[in-house]
Amino acid sequence: MQSCDVLIVGGGPAGSTCAWRLGQAGLAVIVLDKAVFPRHKVCAGWITPAVIEELDLDVEDYRRSRVFQPITSFRTGCLGGPQVVTTYDRAVSYGIRRCEFDDYLLRRSGAALELSQPLDTIERAGGRWVVNGRFQTSLVVGAGGHFCPVARLLGEEKNSTEIVLAAQEIEFEMDPQQQAQCRAVAETPEIYFCEDLEGYGWCIRKGNYLNIGLGRLDRRRISAHVADFCCFLQERGRIPQGLSEKFRGHAYLDYDHSSRRLLDDGMLLIGDAAGLAYPQSGEGIRPAIESGLMAAEVVVQCRGDYRRQRLEAYRELLHERFGRRGSDSSRRHWPLAGLKRRIGRCLLANRSFVRHIVLDRWFLHRHQTPWKPSSFDRFRASGPIR
Ligand SMILES: Cc1cc2nc3c(=O)[nH]c(=O)nc-3n(C[C@H](O)[C@H](O)[C@H](O)COP(=O)(O)OP(=O)(O)OC[C@H]3O[C@@H](n4cnc5c(N)ncnc54)[C@H](O)[C@@H]3O)c2cc1C
Repeated sequence: MQSCDVLIVGGGPAGSTCAWRLGQAGLAVIVLDKAVFPRHKVCAGWITPAVIEELDLDVEDYRRSRVFQPITSFRTGCLGGPQVVTTYDRAVSYGIRRCEFDDYLLRRSGAALELSQPLDTIERAGGRWVVNGRFQTSLVVGAGGHFCPVARLLGEEKNSTEIVLAAQEIEFEMDPQQQAQCRAVAETPEIYFCEDLEGYGWCIRKGNYLNIGLGRLDRRRISAHVADFCCFLQERGRIPQGLSEKFRGHAYLDYDHSSRRLLDDGMLLIGDAAGLAYPQSGEGIRPAIESGLMAAEVVVQCRGDYRRQRLEAYRELLHERFGRRGSDSSRRHWPLAGLKRRIGRCLLANRSFVRHIVLDRWFLHRHQTPWKPSSFDRFRASGPIR
């Protein structure tokens, strides 16, 4: 039997970030993932400068052999409506490929990696967990994404009303003929809201890679919406004709509509497993990383005593950062979906609204400074860890 302080199920950005911080604090960590890395993850793959700071990412090292596409402007609009190009004087985002990004972070974490190892069994024995009959640990961190088996085990809070976001995506390297047919510009991702404002599609070029996708609040007819969106882009020459790749789908929860139980004795959830994606845009890499950092800080402070009441400090940190779940009734849907279509379409044609609200606030979260362990020191001084 192999023993560790913390076993993390899932080696995506949430799991690898948590493992990295715990390792730095001297804890023995095992990361279990059902996939072999590098693996594909359905995602548009854009991250903000805050993510780079939170991860202390060595950009020069990273970009040496991986795609790292600075983004300095956005083309936005409503499908069939006017388009607005918003330009910044510096990079406000970066396009990465998830297969490269996740692999890099996982290898960097320094944790013992158990790949191609799906979680099979978790049993309680002598106050510790026995996982897959092979690993013994005091704490299991569920970082297995939307379908995380640890989240299933923990179950849901009462009175749950979850809304599952549905999305489809493709990413491929364009051949020279496709590059010639593609008017999408690398530093300018394109975001187009659906006519009913219940979702949006995107097209992002990262060097010669092209990522196209669409996400919606409701799953019905998602493939038809994706097909319409591709026609829209092709008619305008934004993407090449005749895409041969098959779109892959995925589901996830935003923070306001998740009711997952976050923790219990010797167990807690981070990232998509906890349902943390931003309600405004559906982006989840930054919340995944921040929750991994927060969980690690709390775990270190618990000094081996992982009873529920000690781990509660993690929930408090999430509340402090993201607010209380479902507390803002105006966020019952993606922000534009609550508006009448005509008003929404007018707003999306307004340059100031697009820059300051849609991009700066909803997509880039520029108002929120990166989360750092020092934020936790401030929090701890007010005494939530008992
Ligand atoms: C179409 C789409 C586009 C998106 N675009 C963006 C974007 O551009 N920017 C952004 O910030 N966010 C985006 N998101 C959200 C983002 O992808 C997620 O929020 C993010 O990946 C969450 O990270 P995570 O580490 O929690 O989970 P994941 O990245 O899903 O990692 C979970 C890991 O757990 C492993 N696992 C699962 N089950 C098991 C098991 N039973 N046993 C062992 N291991 C298991 C998986 O193999 C995986 O490696 C997008 C999501 C979708 C669906």
